[in-house]
Amino acid sequence: MLWVSASLKDEGPQVQATLKNAGERSFDYVIAADGIRSRTRDLVFTNTCIKGLGLRTAYFTIPHQPADGRWARWHNAPRHRSITLRPDNLGTTRAALSYLTPAQDDERLATTDQKQLLHRVFGGLAWEVPRILTEMDNASDFFFESVGQVHMPRWFTGRIAAVGDAAYCASPLSGMGTSLALTGAYILAGELAHRADHHAAFTAYESTLRPYTARAQKLPPGTPRAALPRTRAGIALLNTVLRTATTKPARTLLARFLVPPADTLTLPTYHS
Ligand SMILES: Cc1cc2nc3c(=O)[nH]c(=O)nc-3n(C[C@H](O)[C@H](O)[C@H](O)COP(=O)(O)OP(=O)(O)OC[C@H]3O[C@@H](n4cnc5c(N)ncnc54)[C@H](O)[C@@H]3O)c2cc1C
Repeated sequence: MLWVSASLKDEGPQVQATLKNAGERSFDYVIAADGIRSRTRDLVFTNTCIKGLGLRTAYFTIPHQPADGRWARWHNAPRHRSITLRPDNLGTTRAALSYLTPAQDDERLATTDQKQLLHRVFGGLAWEVPRILTEMDNASDFFFESVGQVHMPRWFTGRIAAVGDAAYCASPLSGMGTSLALTGAYILAGELAHRADHHAAFTAYESTLRPYTARAQKLPPGTPRAALPRTRAGIALLNTVLRTATTKPARTLLARFLVPPADTLTLPTYHS
């Protein structure tokens, strides 16, 4: 059930919520867990920063072709463009078109205009691109986003808190979003269940998790530009680097820089 809050009033022992499709309701606590563009969060927290990374990505599903095989494929094109094709376990193929841009307002365009924009950005490329663009026009699950991170000075106020991408989205480029969302939900639930005072619970949740999310939000230098070179020479260099990166010693070294070490966070145990 999608409950869209129209207003939240944090008064006394309960939060009064006006829901667009369910009228007025009262809750002990409200947790905004509705993703990077959280509308629940934005009703209450006024100083949230969504830091754009200059990267746009469109995701959609297209019919599977024999050439798609069983492996994901990644194709770079000059002028900071990349295309990925990933066969899924449903007999279809997931396509993603990504590019760098200084534009600000393309995310707010209507879907048809976003598709036209992608035709302009990716039109004329070879590889599987003509087929992908044709199928994109028929895709019912098309989604276009400005890739970004969420930075909030505080993750709670009164009886209202935020968790997951709504509070501290690290972006898909971090590879950490699901871990952060699940870990945050676990700690938040554990603290609320084990402390009588919700303010102490929210404080403990934030102080335990914040150093870990800060590490995860620190993207490797050159991200995302390094993965989307401007020139053919840059693409050749990237391919060489990626080939080297798949060797075992390089993988071990990279893991130290790309993934926050587990010892950044000691997961509390909450006994029931
Ligand atoms: C292409 C891509 C690749 C990724 N790869 C990785 C990866 O390899 N590893 C990794 O760890 N993370 C990855 N991530 C990030 C990961 O998906 C997110 O960080 C994670 O899903 C965040 O979880 P969340 O529950 O906070 O938010 P979301 O997954 O965004 O969930 C929010 C939910 O709230 C719902 N919602 C919105 N509004 C309302 C409302 N008013 N009422 C009720 N429900 C509402 C939405 O429908 C949605 O289901 C990737 C993300 C993308 C886009």
